[in-house]
Amino acid sequence: MRKKVIAGNWKMNNGISETVGLISEIKKEMSGKNFNCEMIICPPFVNLETAGALLKDTVLKLGAQNVYFEESGAFTGEISAAMLKGVGCEYVILGHSERRTIFGESDQVVNKKLKTALKNGLKPIFCVGETLEEREKGITFKIIEAQIRNGLNSFTESELENLIIAYEPVWAIGTGRNATPQQAQDVHLFIRELIGKMFSAGYAARLIIQYGGSVKADNAIELLSQADIDGALVGGACLKADSFIKIAEAS
Ligand code: PEP
Repeated sequence: MRKKVIAGNWKMNNGISETVGLISEIKKEMSGKNFNCEMIICPPFVNLETAGALLKDTVLKLGAQNVYFEESGAFTGEISAAMLKGVGCEYVILGHSERRTIFGESDQVVNKKLKTALKNGLKPIFCVGETLEEREKGITFKIIEAQIRNGLNSFTESELENLIIAYEPVWAIGTGRNATPQQAQDVHLFIRELIGKMFSAGYAARLIIQYGGSVKADNAIELLSQADIDGALVGGACLKADSFIKIAEAS
């Protein structure tokens, strides 16, 4: 049985005071409730330490939105995996479509970041997804397969034990237009079968595959009840405590 994982990607939102406020509201929303899922919040880098301290007495886990692949040195503006571990991060989002399209991150860069994250004991949430144009051309599976084969190139199965994959169709991110539960399930099953071929059936059966793209409190139950959808990576809806917690309750 795979435990569902709900992660909130705050993106470039919330300064320190909003971070304190949102976490305190999330804690209030959680109080007296039981959750079957793992919950993660991923605030911007500068808020990680504050957020980590506020999460200490909760079941919420801390994640970052990016990491650099080098360990240290003259890389102005970058943040290392050891620095993230040092402020209490357990997870890191990698290969997000905004990193790929706005910041030009290639599959090869994502592969190096996955290596560094895993080597340093961070659990990556590795994002893959097709654009609308690619879906309309009928090449969704081909694109997803290339992103996964390149991203996971030269890893052994045992190195990937803490990996999470997030299927995030680019056309569904921040658009209010989620994939239908069936569209998402079809890609999740494809990913699980591909991972089974690349590694082993046992590993594929254990792998957590999240869906991301306009997940909201009112579509979460249907999406999360699909056989191969093991959680959600949530953008917009994680910026409000009640909607984030309702999505977690739907797990
Ligand atoms: C995301 O950025 O990973 C995301 C899924 O955003 P949204 O939920 O806003 O579509």
